[in-house]
Amino acid sequence: MRIVPIPCLRDNYAYLVICEATRRTAVVDPSESGPVLAALQREGVGLDAIWNTHHHLDHTGGNKELLDAYPELEVIGHVLDQGRIPGQTTFAGDGDEISLGDEVRARIIHNPGHTRGAISYYMPDLAAGRPEGQSEAGTIPSAAAVRPAIRSAIFTGDTLFAGGCGRLFEGTPGQMHASLSRLAELPEHTEVFCGHEYAAVNLRFAAEVEPGSKAVAERRKKVDQVRQNGQPTVPSTIAEERATNPFLRSQVPAVAASAQANESPANNSPVEIFAALRRWRDRF
Ligand code: ZN
Ligand code: FE
Repeated sequence: MRIVPIPCLRDNYAYLVICEATRRTAVVDPSESGPVLAALQREGVGLDAIWNTHHHLDHTGGNKELLDAYPELEVIGHVLDQGRIPGQTTFAGDGDEISLGDEVRARIIHNPGHTRGAISYYMPDLAAGRPEGQSEAGTIPSAAAVRPAIRSAIFTGDTLFAGGCGRLFEGTPGQMHASLSRLAELPEHTEVFCGHEYAAVNLRFAAEVEPGSKAVAERRKKVDQVRQNGQPTVPSTIAEERATNPFLRSQVPAVAASAQANESPANNSPVEIFAALRRWRDRF
C-alpha cells in the first residue's frame, strides 16, 4: 500500500491510495480532477474509487470529471451526505469497513462537527502482512524503502488538521470535541493525512495558546522549515497531535488557563474550553 499526496487548489490535499499488489487505486477528496489525473498517469495506475471525507466543494469538486473518465467508480461518503456528494454510490456509516484490492482495508469513523456527514478513513494494521523493515522477497530495498513502512494511517479531511481542527459549520462544540477525542485515542503511531496545508498558521496559534510548551515550539520550527523547502507537512502522527494540537488538549491546565484569559468560557469543562479555543482561533 502506498499513499501519494496531491496538492490541489490553493492549500488542499487529495491523496492516492494504491494497493501495490493489485494496482487498484482510490483517491481521497479530489478537489479538482486535473492534478489527480496527472498523478494517476505518473503512477501508471487507473482509478477505482473516490473516498470523500465530506461534501464541501474543495473535497468533491473533481468527482464529476473523474466519473466522466472512469464511469465505474465507487464513490464513498457518509449516508448523511446523500444528495450532497456528486456521484455517490456508497452510503457509509460509522464502523463500516471498506476495501481496495488485496492490501487496503479502511474503517469509517463518523466525525460530526465540521459538517454533519464528516468521516475519517482509518487504515489499521497496514504492515500486518509484512514484518517491519522487510522488503519484498528477492528485491533490493530502494530509497523509498528506507522510510519505515506505515503501520496505520488515517485520512481526516477537515476534522483533525496538523496542529488544528476544522471550523464548526454544521455541528456543536460538543460534537466536534467528541469527534476529535475519538481520533486522539487511536494508536499513537497512526499517520495523519489531513485535508489542508494549514500547519504553519495552526502551530503559530498553538504557540500562542501554550507559550511555555517546548513540544509546540519544536514542532513549529520543524513545520516552518518544511514549508520553506516547499514540502508538505503531512503526515503527522497522533502522538504529535496529542502533544501539540491545542484542540486535543482542552483538559490540560495550561491550555484551559489560556482559553480563560482570552475567551472567558462559561465554565472549565473540556467542551467549554474547546469551544473557547475554537472561537479564539476563528478570529486569530
Ligand atoms: Zn470542509
Ligand atoms: Fe476543506
